[in-house]
Formats: sequence, C-alpha cells, structure tokens
Amino acid sequence: MQPVTTSAPSGPMIPLDSCWICGGKQLVRVNEEYYDMTWHTDPVLVSYHQQRFWLVECQACGFLQPDLLPAAPDYFDRLYAKDRGTDWMELDFSTPYKDFIFEGILQALAAKLPEDRRSLLDVGTHVGRMPYLAARRGWSVEAIELNPHVAAFAAQRTGLPIHQLNAHLLADTGRRYDAVTLTDVLEHIPDPMKVLPELRNLLRPGGWLSVKVPNGRNQLRKQRLRSRLRLAKDASIADSLGHINHFSPKSLRSALEKAGFRRIEITTAAPELPTFSFHPKVLLSRASRLGVYYLARMLPGGIHTPLALNLQAFAMRDE
Ligand SMILES: [Zn+2]
Repeated sequence: MQPVTTSAPSGPMIPLDSCWICGGKQLVRVNEEYYDMTWHTDPVLVSYHQQRFWLVECQACGFLQPDLLPAAPDYFDRLYAKDRGTDWMELDFSTPYKDFIFEGILQALAAKLPEDRRSLLDVGTHVGRMPYLAARRGWSVEAIELNPHVAAFAAQRTGLPIHQLNAHLLADTGRRYDAVTLTDVLEHIPDPMKVLPELRNLLRPGGWLSVKVPNGRNQLRKQRLRSRLRLAKDASIADSLGHINHFSPKSLRSALEKAGFRRIEITTAAPELPTFSFHPKVLLSRASRLGVYYLARMLPGGIHTPLALNLQAFAMRDE
C-alpha cells in the first residue's frame, strides 16, 4: 500500500466545549495531537490527514478529551472497519500478551459472583481471546465485535456467539449477563456517558462490570519521556483519535457513579506482557512491566502515582 500524499487537511471538525463526564466547562489544553492517515485509503479518513487538535483536561474531574471531533458522522466506523487479513488476526489470537490481564479480570469476577452466576459478555472483543479464555474457565460467554471481518474471525475461531450489534441494540433483545467486560475498549468510544448506562442495562441485578482503560495523564507522562529519550517519534497519545477518552481515577469513578453503578473499585490495571522467552530483552521487559505494576498496587496511594499506567475498575449493578 502506498502512503497518502495529501498535504492540505480538509476534513471538517466540530468543537467540544464541555467535559463528556461531568459537563465541566473549564477545559485546559495539555497536548497537541494530529491525524496520521498514512496507511489508510478511505477518502473520508484521508481528508483528515495532518489535521491538528488539542487534548484538553477538565479542571473539575481530570478527564482528557479532544477539543475538536471529526464532523464525519461515520468517522469511527470507518476507522475500525479495516480488514487486516486472517494471518494477522490468527497471530493476534494466538499471542498471549494480554492473558495476564484477562485471567486477572476473570479471577476477580469469579470471586465477586456466586458460583452459579457465570454468564459473561465481552464488549469490543476483537479477535476473541478473552471469550476463549473465559469459556475454558467454565463461563458461558458471548461477545460484541462491530468490525465484520474481526467478528467473523472471532466467531469461527472460538465457536461462541459474537454479536455485531452495539450494546443498546443487544440490550433491546432482552439479553442479560452476570458480568460485562470492556478491556482496552472504552477509550475508543466517543461520549462514554452514552454507552455506560447501556452496559448497566445488559447486567442482571448483582452483576459486575469490568472496565480496563489507560490512565490518561500517566500515559502522557510516559510518552513525553519516551519522546525525550527518542524511543518514540513524538509525545502523541491520541493520534487520529485512536484513543478518544483519557480517564483519571477520579473521572472513571465519577463516570461509573453517574451511570448508576455501585460498589465501585478502581485499582492499577495489569500490564500487557511480551510472550515469555529467555531472551534478555524479553526478560527485562517483563520484569520492568511487572515491577512497575506491583509497586503501584502495593504502595499506599499507588494509583495516584505516575506508576499507575492503566486503570482497572469493577462496578456493580445493585438493582
Ligand atoms: Zn469533567
């Protein structure tokens, strides 16, 4: 595929003037971001190439969001409709780099729910690794995946029901679950306060939601450091709006409270780990990722230190 050569960005943008989570109007610029559509061919996406915008921080709740959104109503559908091919999906499915995260979530949910409550919906399941692991642990699993290529792969690879419906339409079918999980998904959904109440509707009373997201401010700190050390080409954490929402512990809690959840717990989330091998680079990477994670978990107030790179929330539907 040839990189695009568009030089004049032309995609229309619309301003966002209040915080998606708390409605706060005091939004302060914290990082300039841009669209990089080098590897896309969709003309609507390409029209945004090199367009710039700011991530702004809500002074009331600490949530980071863009100050401008693409006006194209189907921008995000187009962004996520890409077909990367079966080989790429198979590789992603069979690589266990997120298993430490998935297994920890399944273990925590099993401890919160009675033994006879084991139905689970994985939202934004991608190639279906999470449902595959959950089914092996005895959960009755279904999933949502909107990208048709990825959904077809996940259904074929796991043999499980993979719905190509959004949460709202799935809830309309009357389906309900004991657990709903979103792992590295909520940061991709514009206006998260629209989807969180719909996820609550998909839970039976007493059911639990699990949400894992990047910790916005700490990801920005990390990326600025990597850029200074020349390990990254720049300090962007939202290029092309791949990540739209950037939560803080406070804004994640308040989003879940506003959506009607109770018994909210927020901790440092587990890291992705490169597949185990005795190669020194792999051992060092695993040790440093695990070291930072356990330190953030053990230190009093660790969630509020720069070590907490990702956030893990659990929240219950109590009625
Ligand atoms: Zn706010």
